Amino acid sequence: MKEQLYTIPVNDAFQTDCECPVCDLYHSLEQEAVEFTMGPSYMEDDVRMETNETGFCPHHIRRLYKHQNRLGLALMLHTHMQRTNEVLKELTATSSPSKKGLFAKKAEKNPVTEYIRQLEGSCYICNRVERIFDRYLATIFHCYRHDEAFRERFASSKGFCTRHFGMLYERAPLHLSGRELDSFLGILVDTYLKNMQRVTDDLEWFTDKFDYRNADAPWKNSKDALPRSITKTNSISEAQLEE
Ligand SMILES: [Zn+2]
Ligand SMILES: [Zn+2]
Repeated sequence: MKEQLYTIPVNDAFQTDCECPVCDLYHSLEQEAVEFTMGPSYMEDDVRMETNETGFCPHHIRRLYKHQNRLGLALMLHTHMQRTNEVLKELTATSSPSKKGLFAKKAEKNPVTEYIRQLEGSCYICNRVERIFDRYLATIFHCYRHDEAFRERFASSKGFCTRHFGMLYERAPLHLSGRELDSFLGILVDTYLKNMQRVTDDLEWFTDKFDYRNADAPWKNSKDALPRSITKTNSISEAQLEE
């Protein structure tokens, strides 16, 4: 089966004026996942089976809590807690922690702490977003290979946050090879570094503006340099910062 491509959202993101179009894609998926989870779908068995198992990460539980649908969240958390209680009741009845487990070189795995660790690392929204985000990344490479206009847009974009630069860098050899791969990596690295430097310089001027001698000097592009820097370093958009 041919895997689905998402050329429309990918092209839209690369036409948006932002410091990382991949962040843009990620955030719109997150928004959709929150709306989906808080919509009627949380009453569906397959969704509930998954949310009962995984629960939500701290970041996404905050997003869900801010949503209007308090009853929906309460119902989901209620059955998730019932499930957690059930599992931990069973596991604590049959195992106990040991000193060895904490200090031994090859830590002995305790089922209780293993389960809790796994629970802390799992989130229904994260899982849902990751599944589609992976295809979004594949679509970026697809567009790059097949669409001349996209290649130009890619090269003239404002670059990427560090995390998404790393993802594109790491995945490139899975989708491209030979001269095409070399050329992609050249453009990717150049676009990333050049734009990181641009925002770093903007941020420097932002700090220089605090010097009284620069009080009357123009802001240039530095007024919003701090939130734009945070996009580059932490993959958080300006809108998300204000949330
Ligand atoms: Zn990003
Ligand atoms: Zn999450």
